[in-house]
Amino acid sequence: MTISESLKSSLLKYKENEPLAKHSTMRVGDKADFFVEIHFEEDLKSFLNLYKDYTDLPLLILGEGSNTLFSDGFRGIVLQMVNKGIEKIDEDNEFVTLKASAGQNWHEFVKYCVDNNLSGVENLAFIPGTIGAAPVQNIAAYGQVQEDAFLSLEAFEISSAEKRTFDEPECQFDYRSSIFKNELKDKYIISSVTYKLKKASEYIPETSYHSRYESLGGILEEVAQEPYTLKDIFHAVIEIRKRKLPQVKDYGTLGSFFVNHFITTEKLKELQDKFPDIQYYPVDKMQYPALEDQSLKDAEFVKIPVGWLLEELGWKGKMIGNVGTYEKHALCVITDGPATGQEVIDYMNKMKQSVFDATGIEITSEVNIV
Ligand SMILES: Cc1cc2nc3c(=O)[nH]c(=O)nc-3n(C[C@H](O)[C@H](O)[C@H](O)COP(=O)(O)OP(=O)(O)OC[C@H]3O[C@@H](n4cnc5c(N)ncnc54)[C@H](O)[C@@H]3O)c2cc1C
Repeated sequence: MTISESLKSSLLKYKENEPLAKHSTMRVGDKADFFVEIHFEEDLKSFLNLYKDYTDLPLLILGEGSNTLFSDGFRGIVLQMVNKGIEKIDEDNEFVTLKASAGQNWHEFVKYCVDNNLSGVENLAFIPGTIGAAPVQNIAAYGQVQEDAFLSLEAFEISSAEKRTFDEPECQFDYRSSIFKNELKDKYIISSVTYKLKKASEYIPETSYHSRYESLGGILEEVAQEPYTLKDIFHAVIEIRKRKLPQVKDYGTLGSFFVNHFITTEKLKELQDKFPDIQYYPVDKMQYPALEDQSLKDAEFVKIPVGWLLEELGWKGKMIGNVGTYEKHALCVITDGPATGQEVIDYMNKMKQSVFDATGIEITSEVNIV
């Protein structure tokens, strides 16, 4: 039987020759040979049992495509997780444990938590994408990281169709990274994620949100009145994001296109000769255990905001055809009209080359390029 016949005889919802541009918030990409939607966990089991006979066909797992750039089409099967739901699985005086399905929209989950006065993910409001993708790159914003509230996740091994649970240490969370971006890349499909949220008091103490991200304080003053509630913080985060970042409804965008870069203090000194105002942040090594394995192991190092470097090099708001960077943020590559995946790749490569020529630094893309 061909894969086409197998899918036809299954109960799975699927399409052939599906345009990918509508499944990535970058709005580029050609067609996928097969595009299968997973609405229930049972669909995932059926699919994996069927896929055992077609493993020569490449498989790509997709959520809402807000961190995925399709450089072209996909000669294989795209499996989109659209299984939804949030379930309370435990509660005590202090905490509530919620299990959410992988295809559940992340922001709706955050809103659910805030509506129920549960704290732990409110600074991650308005990040596009699904629950299932959140642990993959350990999403973070405004001083909060999803691993702070993470308890465990369930995932199916692609080769065996067996389900297993991963606790926090097993996920090896790091800066914009986890085991699912490294050792277990393309080996597991996350079906649900469980978070432990703290019951919030009526008003949030200033020290609590300020210690997480200072600039929230300024925007809070504008959008709410003291003493602030969890909802006030949630709305302040949405407001700050609307002001600073390109919106999915207005542009093709994947948010930040590059990760911030770690350099040794020695390298920083070298760069300061050329860029006296270069921005940098001291780094607590304990927060980045994976970096200890790399060339920075024995050195002191700092984090430099790549957006600052790109702006300094003239990339902010620069368009080449319909591809460019956002006028308010050089780290955000956008499309503002019809474009191809290759045009985005070409633009990205030009940015990388310009940073390398000016600093010797090889910046790394944050997005998944397919
Ligand atoms: C405007 C904008 C702002 C953004 N701001 C932020 C931000 O502040 N902080 C931040 O961290 N990110 C940010 N992002 C990036 C993006 O929102 C996150 O990475 C998000 O988690 C991606 O979710 P998704 O469902 O769209 O993932 P997709 O793009 O569909 O997938 C991303 C990766 O995860 C894998 N994957 C997806 N689902 C599963 C699953 N169920 N099992 C296994 N693997 C899976 C995919 O194979 C792919 O490698 C932003 C993006 C945009 C467009």
